[in-house]
Amino acid sequence: MDTISYDNCTICPRRCGADRTKTPGFCGATDRIKVARAALHMWEEPCLSGERGAGTVFFSGCQLGCVYCQNRAISHGEAGAEITRERLVEIFFELAEKGAHNIDLVTPDCYIPDVARAIREAKDNGLALPLVCNCSGYETVEAIKTLGGLIDVWMPDLKYLDEDIAQKYSAAPDYPEVAKAAVDAMVVLRPECVFDEDGMMIKGVLVRHLLLPGCLEDSRNALKYLYSRYGNGIWYSIMSQYTPPDGMERPLDRRVTSREYDALIDFACGLGIENAFIQEGGAAEESFIPQFDCEGVIPRHTDG
Ligand code: SF4
Repeated sequence: MDTISYDNCTICPRRCGADRTKTPGFCGATDRIKVARAALHMWEEPCLSGERGAGTVFFSGCQLGCVYCQNRAISHGEAGAEITRERLVEIFFELAEKGAHNIDLVTPDCYIPDVARAIREAKDNGLALPLVCNCSGYETVEAIKTLGGLIDVWMPDLKYLDEDIAQKYSAAPDYPEVAKAAVDAMVVLRPECVFDEDGMMIKGVLVRHLLLPGCLEDSRNALKYLYSRYGNGIWYSIMSQYTPPDGMERPLDRRVTSREYDALIDFACGLGIENAFIQEGGAAEESFIPQFDCEGVIPRHTDG
């Protein structure tokens, strides 16, 4: 794990080489962990949110440059508070106390060395909840191996299979190849999906795919690729919740239509996909985008 460091950073496939002890990298992250929200969250897939909520920890900073980012308040490190690794461990236990079904690490990629240490320390001190890694798919295999068996449920995106779309929308033409290798590595680590008696996912791989306006063909290709490689050995989450940020140009200036989404779901069914979460109408509401107001981040004794 210590082969990954914050000076001359190559933690993610961007490999920008920043010395994060002195300046933020492309992702906006320095060598200090930055978290924008740590709270129970009801808007993950039902097998993660359950009745009490997923214990989400939203990390600040992202190695992609998605023009339509749904979490843009945190994606380049603006919102959030810097915390120590010890505080991160405390946050895990506070979420457990609140009744979280799991600890759901949302885009922890930029901080993987510290996150891996924090998980180890928490487990050594009795944390028994499943650990979920909710990430973009733009991760190196080395970084995935650093987290390795510490993660119980991998929840990557597979955003695109087309390099031109990946370049245009996320400034990452290598995204398709990187994400394919990342999902492969995750499936090697968690080859079997396991649910508890309440239907909560406690082990496995759940791949998300967000349908974007005008990208139906690439979405079909993404699902076709996943199904041809993993069949129903993984779970799928096929999402329609895209919400256009202000100022988007066509075709990203609108929500996806029910006709587009229904066509993708029909295609998935035709492939033979059975293990899938799909979204009902109205999913693209603001409620999916949480407030990045540092809830749960600052220690309780200094709150207020
Ligand atoms: S994690 Fe951030 S600093 Fe490190 S290589 Fe990626 S973009 Fe650069």
